[in-house]
Amino acid sequence: MSEIRVRIPPSPTGLLHVGTVRTALYNYLFAKKHKGKIVFRFEDTDKERSKKEYEEDILSGLKNLGLSYDEGVFYQSKRTEIYKKYLEVLLEEGKAYKCFCTKEELEKKREEQIKNKLPPRHECCCCDNQDRKGDFVVRFKVSKNKDIIFDDLVRGKVKISSNEIADFVIAKSMTEPLYNYCVVVDDYEMKISHIIRGEDGISNTPKQIMIYEAFNWNIPQFAHLPLILNQDKSKLSKRKNRVSVDAFLEDGILPDALLNFLALLGWNTSDEKEIFTLDELIQEFDLKNVHKGGAVFDEKKLLWINGLYIRNKSTEELKKLVIPYLKKANIDYMKHGEDFFTKALKSTQERMKKLSEAPELLAFFFKEDLDYPVDFFEHEKMGVTQDVAKKALKEAINAISNLEEITQETTEEVLVAKIKELGWKNGQLLWPIRVALSGEKFSPGVFELLEIFGRNESLKRINKGLEILA
Ligand code: GLU
Repeated sequence: MSEIRVRIPPSPTGLLHVGTVRTALYNYLFAKKHKGKIVFRFEDTDKERSKKEYEEDILSGLKNLGLSYDEGVFYQSKRTEIYKKYLEVLLEEGKAYKCFCTKEELEKKREEQIKNKLPPRHECCCCDNQDRKGDFVVRFKVSKNKDIIFDDLVRGKVKISSNEIADFVIAKSMTEPLYNYCVVVDDYEMKISHIIRGEDGISNTPKQIMIYEAFNWNIPQFAHLPLILNQDKSKLSKRKNRVSVDAFLEDGILPDALLNFLALLGWNTSDEKEIFTLDELIQEFDLKNVHKGGAVFDEKKLLWINGLYIRNKSTEELKKLVIPYLKKANIDYMKHGEDFFTKALKSTQERMKKLSEAPELLAFFFKEDLDYPVDFFEHEKMGVTQDVAKKALKEAINAISNLEEITQETTEEVLVAKIKELGWKNGQLLWPIRVALSGEKFSPGVFELLEIFGRNESLKRINKGLEILA
């Protein structure tokens, strides 16, 4: 096989979208796997909708995710001369023509077609009259009665009759070329071997193939990736889902976890493995395993994957990641020293699904005066009434006061012995202590909390619990 060359060609008309990342990722994986090259270009011919700030967001977003490229950045807006040169070739060879039809003329024709029950499509005789003066657009001349066939690497053989395609505009003027045409010129000039893009691009493919043929250029291979869908199977939209990569990263989704999740949107290995490093993805990725059907964007799955990645971080690494969130929430996380912070964080790591949950999970550790409703102490199933809770807290004070050292092991030993002695269920003693220590219904386990808080703070909190129960 000759050199593999793919492209990442976003239009900078919005913030970096998860769909763009999924497509970029598949291109990246395919190129890396086959030791190929990745070309990056901005398709910014739409001057009104293309914005510098979107370009910056897309570039920095891909960089943060670790998706690099080998060549570029190219800008279509800076390549007008190149497009013009090839337009002249097409005009000269009669493969495209200047169309001078005015709006009124086109409208009239349309009405006639509708009246005669014909499908409305462009037809004119401008190609026979190229010397007419005035404004014109450039139309590609579509040959009739021809099948356009391509072998899509995902969808298989696709066939469409050229009779379904009317002569289409490829430039609004000699210096205003349009998307379908620019893409072909770029992909040719940039020697692209594989065009891997979203399924929404498939309707453009026959037109693009005709342009390749008009120039006698080699046609690259196409692979159209399945659409990304909302939970209700509609096309992924901003309205129903978060779609900007910034929004996910700000919310504390880890870049690696997001990539792992996006890789699974439309692809899997035969063994249904779900957790991959980027290197493993490169090893395993194969266009053959890309699905034809749409892929549902399931945020719950994303959180599940993200939780796994958080658990796999060392607590030191996680510390650096959560500090900005704690600062923003005004949590004085160094109040009891570094060691306390590390242990507190470690105790919540298991339950953290995204970094933005850190303030909520950690706040109670640093609160001076806990305040919570008394009914937090009650737990019907475990047989905890307020009276049981009071007794439990008093027993806890005794047990802890007498311990020489407060560790998970020593506290577990005395409290378990106490449970036996009282003939209670575990929860009757442990639930109230845990509530008093955390002021929360859900928190890390009681022995872990006792060790983290140490004797003084633990006793202070348990006493406060008794006040609340009084
Ligand atoms: N610029 C197009 C987009 O952002 C890419 C289409 C293509 O890959 O040909 O959707």
